[in-house]
Amino acid sequence: MNAEFDLIERIRQRAAGQRADVVLGIGDDAAILRVPAGQDLVVSTDTLSSGVHFPVDTPASHIGWKSLAVNLSDLAAMGAQPAWCALNLTIPEANSAWLDAFLDGFFALATQYQVALVGGDTTRGPLSITVTVHGFVPHGMALLRSGAQVGDDIWISGTLGDAAAALAKRDAAPGGVSDRQASGCDSTGDVLKSQYNLQTRLNRPTPRVTLGIALRDIATACIDVSDGLLADLGHIVDASNVGAEISVGDMPTSIELSQAYDHAQRVAFQLSGGDDYELCFTALHECASQVDAAGAQAGVAVTRIGHIQAQPGLRVRDCNGVMSNATPSGYRHFASAHAVSDE
Ligand code: ADP
Ligand code: MG
Repeated sequence: MNAEFDLIERIRQRAAGQRADVVLGIGDDAAILRVPAGQDLVVSTDTLSSGVHFPVDTPASHIGWKSLAVNLSDLAAMGAQPAWCALNLTIPEANSAWLDAFLDGFFALATQYQVALVGGDTTRGPLSITVTVHGFVPHGMALLRSGAQVGDDIWISGTLGDAAAALAKRDAAPGGVSDRQASGCDSTGDVLKSQYNLQTRLNRPTPRVTLGIALRDIATACIDVSDGLLADLGHIVDASNVGAEISVGDMPTSIELSQAYDHAQRVAFQLSGGDDYELCFTALHECASQVDAAGAQAGVAVTRIGHIQAQPGLRVRDCNGVMSNATPSGYRHFASAHAVSDE
């Protein structure tokens, strides 16, 4: 199919400017890559499907950015340095304008982290993008979910709940003007700016790659928050055979989120909303100043939100100090419903 080769050629041209460790990139039956001595190869893959992982009307450049960002976020959570990626593109038609816009977003992020696109596959079908990323971590230094110890502090990077808030606002009232009305705010520039920022958090998340690398020697466990804090922290406590207590009052909250939603809604987004791609990690209590330094080095805020306990399960302390048990309630593809529930 000629159109397929045209598309691949368009991609290949944009992927030029390779890394020295790419022995052979796009164009043969497979790529040849050289892993540096002393490094473990860390591999992760994630699929974004239209209507499931992004609204169907999302601009192509955002889809390109996000399809790589969610994958780099997984490498960040392992403490890995990104190196290479592969792109499996399923698109409904050979639309080169759409592809060019997609590649604008994709390569904007790839260039930022010096990730080389070394191969992939191009097929026709309902829009779906699978990216596979490869990164390096010195032998045995990767951050796992299973290392949290009783007494460790629980930390979160950046702010939580922004992406879920942006998605909810979209669902409630797609379109700029009705967005503004739905927020219950008047039409000041500040409100527009805040919604723009929330949308940016949804469409162009920042993978916390530099922070993940800075945490290699410090964090005892780490995960990226893709499915919601309770769900993802739940994975850490399960893998580590421990429990956790977190405090709603300590949750890092963007100005945009607190302007756009009341307290109860914001807390729901922060505990159960997904798509923020922040790092949730644990560290020895004595290492707090090292964590602060790692955040400063990476240029991202880090906030302590709780601590690890021996008792299994997750406990959430509300702003009045009242504690309740929480069930992990992040996004589940095969579940019919999900909600925060107190037991
Ligand atoms: P084959 O039939 O041998 O699998 P393809 O025609 O699918 O070969 O691909 C030819 C080359 O183009 C390969 O190097 C492949 O990795 C690369 N390629 C195909 N699609 C993409 C894509 N979407 N992104 C990057 N590289 C791609
Ligand atoms: Mg192929």
